[in-house]
Amino acid sequence: MKILLSTFLLFCISTHAPPRKIKVVVKILPTLAKLVKDQPIQIEVSAKDFSYGDTKPINDSLVLLFESSSASSFDVVINGSLKYADSSERYFRTGSRFDLHTGSENFQMNFPADCTINRYLGGKTCPNCKNSKEIIPVVYGLLLPDMPGLPGIDYYPMGCMRSSCDPSWYCKRDSLLF
Ligand SMILES: [Zn+2]
Repeated sequence: MKILLSTFLLFCISTHAPPRKIKVVVKILPTLAKLVKDQPIQIEVSAKDFSYGDTKPINDSLVLLFESSSASSFDVVINGSLKYADSSERYFRTGSRFDLHTGSENFQMNFPADCTINRYLGGKTCPNCKNSKEIIPVVYGLLLPDMPGLPGIDYYPMGCMRSSCDPSWYCKRDSLLF
């Protein structure tokens, strides 16, 4: 009888367990908060039994709330291009996978990742020599030999590997990626 009762109780607990409450706080890198505030970024959250997708400007931080009964992990991908004071643009992409272990859980994610390259606010101007004329764009991905380029503009090939702290520009005078 005791075994039966405990089996019954276990059954009740497992089938009537309330869904876990999940809180995700997306924090904008403070240095870039002013830029992100006026420019939309894309947020995508995906899991087995919940998802979210939106494109909007974020003021300092964004709080997302979910409920899940069966997910063991979820993914967050945030990306967007930000325009700087000199009209240059920089693309950011940050992705994270979070594991779910216990009941209610809180997670935090920074956008973009906190690193020197992402904190730089000088746009296309070299942080070292302050020149903006001998600056070429950094290009990612497979480059084909006959890839059409803009006339008179060359580029710095970076290959296919991307991280959360990728340079966008290359100063030919200093051989510096920023
Ligand atoms: Zn330079």
